[in-house]
Amino acid sequence: MASGPIAEKTCAGCGGALVAGSLATKDSYYQVAAAQWLEGVPEKSIWSGLKTGGRLLLPVASYCCQSCGRLELYAEPPEDV
Ligand SMILES: [Zn+2]
Repeated sequence: MASGPIAEKTCAGCGGALVAGSLATKDSYYQVAAAQWLEGVPEKSIWSGLKTGGRLLLPVASYCCQSCGRLELYAEPPEDV
C-alpha cells in the first residue's frame, strides 16, 4: 500500500491550508461510498449505470481549504503492479 504520497498542500485560490477528505456519495442501497475517477467519456450501461469495462478507475482524494472552502480533487495513482 502506498504511504502518504501527498505532501502538504495549499489552496491555489488563497494559499490557505487544505484538509484531506473524500467526495462521499450514497449508492442505490443508501450506503456511503467514495467517488472514483472513471477514465474516458462516460457511456451509460443498463447494468452498472456507466460502462467501466477496461477503463481505469481511481480513488478520488478531495482537499478542502480551511479558509475559503475551495475544493481540490486528485486522482490517487494506481497501486504498483
Ligand atoms: Zn482557499
